[in-house]
Amino acid sequence: MTAPVAIRRLATAAAGFEADFQRVLHWSAETDAAIEDRVAEIVEAVRTRGDAAVLEFTARFDGLNADSVAALELSRAELQAAFESLPAVQRTALEAAAARVRRYHERQLEACGRSWSYRDEDGSLLGQKVTPLDRVGIYVPGGKAAYPSSVLMNAIPAQVAGVGEIVMVVPTPRGEKNPLVLAAAYVAGVHRAFTLGGAQAVAALAYGTATVPRVDKITGPGNAYVASAKRRVFGQVGIDMIAGPSEILVLADGSTPADWVAIDLFSQAEHDELAQSILLCPDAAYLDAVQAAIDRLLPSMPRQEVIRASLEGRGALIQTASMEEACAFSNRIAPEHLEVSSAEPHRWEPLLKHAGAIFLGAYTSESLGDYCAGPNHVLPTSGTARFSSPLGVYDFQKRSSLIEVSAAGAAVLGPIAAELAYGEGLQAHARAAELRLPVVPPQRG
Ligand code: NAD
Repeated sequence: MTAPVAIRRLATAAAGFEADFQRVLHWSAETDAAIEDRVAEIVEAVRTRGDAAVLEFTARFDGLNADSVAALELSRAELQAAFESLPAVQRTALEAAAARVRRYHERQLEACGRSWSYRDEDGSLLGQKVTPLDRVGIYVPGGKAAYPSSVLMNAIPAQVAGVGEIVMVVPTPRGEKNPLVLAAAYVAGVHRAFTLGGAQAVAALAYGTATVPRVDKITGPGNAYVASAKRRVFGQVGIDMIAGPSEILVLADGSTPADWVAIDLFSQAEHDELAQSILLCPDAAYLDAVQAAIDRLLPSMPRQEVIRASLEGRGALIQTASMEEACAFSNRIAPEHLEVSSAEPHRWEPLLKHAGAIFLGAYTSESLGDYCAGPNHVLPTSGTARFSSPLGVYDFQKRSSLIEVSAAGAAVLGPIAAELAYGEGLQAHARAAELRLPVVPPQRG
């Protein structure tokens, strides 16, 4: 008999709730100074010594020795062979997931990824030209586990956006390649792939080496070394986001079987000890039922130690006064994943503003979204859903403004621009506008 899981139990009506709630939310985003220092050294070494430094760090941190970085590149033929070597069920699952993720992101391209323009009343053209990035690097984590789903979630939106070249890096400890990861790269249309990881891979992509091409943007999750390296090279290249520990918040009205909710909380907790799983519900008896389900189901989980540490360290079962109040707390938390486990999900959805992804109704487990529903699983964490969005086609595009002023437009805009330019003391700006007027006024002093 294993001990009950000592997950925090709170009630919004209880005295001292706010202080307890703050403790639940608290997560130190401070980075470990030792990691920062080490990453600084790695990035600088790769920037200045290129391939030689990449080889040294790959040998040291991944136990993978090679004579050249070129020897660590995977050919398209090797990716294809990995795909063809998979059991048929895995090939089918991978292709089905890829097709759904592609379809979703194609809709995203249609909805918000196209150029547009209009002509104003003077015949001037104003618009926005949307172009894909030339070359992106996608980081696929691989130190402790393999993540083929992350290959799909990063590469497919890039491909749909029309990125010219997608370069994947994936650490391959001791050279043990994961066939599913390689196969996913094949299915997702990755152009080049290297068995490199950590800060050295991020730096190689950011600065380029003799062998690894320099990219314009790096996306994808990773451990603290990867996150620190991405932060450090930002500006040299674009990055998507800095991901913190994963989170799930379940908002329940008590109508979903308690076992389903308990397992959904586990599905986040099993990622790592710092992952966060929270349940908000107005019904105390339902919170008891979920606690009982957690205690009964935990022993059946191979990763039960990680799950217990996560639930006891950062988890919470919170009784709210109502579903409306639960929605308000959910907005304060701004979780990465939000499950609305309710018989009336569409009643509550309009009240929910801040979340990376919102999963509606009892049948929508977060895990379906993680792998194959279609939307992206790379999501803002640590409350950053207040201001940022899931990884998407738009992360692989950029926008240029288009302006074409007609002669009539120049006559209207010229005096306005000149007035403001003289006000700023910028004579050349003012004259550039005035010289295009039908009657050029004298230059002001
Ligand atoms: P990783 O690929 O992020 O890191 C492995 C690399 O870390 C190694 O190649 C090595 O270069 C570097 N490293 C390890 N120890 C080092 C040391 N002492 N000094 C310098 N460098 C060192 O793989 P991981 O470690 O398995 O971490 C993966 C992370 O990605 C996890 O935190 C996981 O939760 C997260 N993840 C997130 C998502 C998501 O969508 N948010 C998806 C998958 C994985």
